[in-house]
Amino acid sequence: MIRSTVARVDLAALQSNFRAIQDFLGGPNGPAIIAVVKANAYGHGAERVALALEQAGATMLACADIEEGIVLRRAGVTRPILVFGALSVSDLDGLFEFSLTPTISTPSAARAVQAAAATRKTVCHYHLKIDTGMNRLGFRHDNLRRTLPELLASPNLQLDAVYTHFATADSPESDLFDTQRTRFEAALATLDRPVLRHAANSAATLRDSRVWYDVVRPGLMMYGIVPPPLASTIPLKPVMSLTSRVVGVKGLRPGETVGYGGRFSSEAPASVAVVPAGYADGLDLRLEGRGHVLVRGRRVPIVGAVSMDMMTIDVTGLDDVQPGDEVVIIGSQGREPWQQIDVREMAAAIGTIPYEIVCRIGSRIERQYT
Ligand SMILES: *Cc1c(COP(=O)(O)O)cnc(C)c1O
Repeated sequence: MIRSTVARVDLAALQSNFRAIQDFLGGPNGPAIIAVVKANAYGHGAERVALALEQAGATMLACADIEEGIVLRRAGVTRPILVFGALSVSDLDGLFEFSLTPTISTPSAARAVQAAAATRKTVCHYHLKIDTGMNRLGFRHDNLRRTLPELLASPNLQLDAVYTHFATADSPESDLFDTQRTRFEAALATLDRPVLRHAANSAATLRDSRVWYDVVRPGLMMYGIVPPPLASTIPLKPVMSLTSRVVGVKGLRPGETVGYGGRFSSEAPASVAVVPAGYADGLDLRLEGRGHVLVRGRRVPIVGAVSMDMMTIDVTGLDDVQPGDEVVIIGSQGREPWQQIDVREMAAAIGTIPYEIVCRIGSRIERQYT
């Protein structure tokens, strides 16, 4: 049994994007890639996506927390897995049981992981995060002389890599990016040992080859989406499409309204089609009157309230629309430019970022892998 609304995830496109990024970075001699698969691989399904990226050659995978790392290991991922998140209040058993690589980003996390490793009489390999201006996680760049000695002297902790994260990589007009790069390089210079260095998310990878260092950490770009407002010459392919089917068509008399709030009506006779996908599936309420879908190769507006389990589209003039017709919410239905709806377009229509659109595709929607 499968619902009408499905997300198709094209693993060949994902692997092709990975290789295109690798080529962009200079091929085998360029930096290695940590493939970011946090948040259920940006809604694409962490297990299948992680295995496909591992097969494509990812050096390491990265996720948000220990629980996500365990999901990857249980799926059969054998490559190292970096956990980005703070660990100070986490249950740390999973790090050891599932061989995950923690990020140490606060002195308290350092003490917790050191104590847990000592109890297990083992050495824990970790990446150190330096805060160069995001002011979220990481050891402050300007305080390392005070905070690093205890960390580096921890007998059960082994430093594998040092990294930072940019706050404004996707804002070409912001100076903070260069400030962060300079601070990161100054911080690296204070270390007494060689370590791997990484800093670049998708936007930073596209923006400045100076921040590629030894490894880059793309997420969004691997899924075929260039972070706005940036453009890229990398031949990326969309990985996810979201489609549904018309389940009903309703004729409206002049002045009648559709859906909660009765906000859509027409002076002339109109017809709307009902699509069984709503905000419980991650479709934003703000798509009402702003978003479009494709049906019968035409682009039609989403009208009336997006409700929990369905939405309505204006198919006035498309007399031939009937139950069973494919509705493309994200993806293409033909070759013309206007027959494509991509995640960037949908995000722009409702004033959000593409990340939010894909992450919110609901758990009720089956991911079909091709
Ligand atoms: C999410 C994340 C990335 C990937 O970011 P994209 O913009 O999706 O490329 C890289 N590094 C860290 C620390 C992240 O949290």
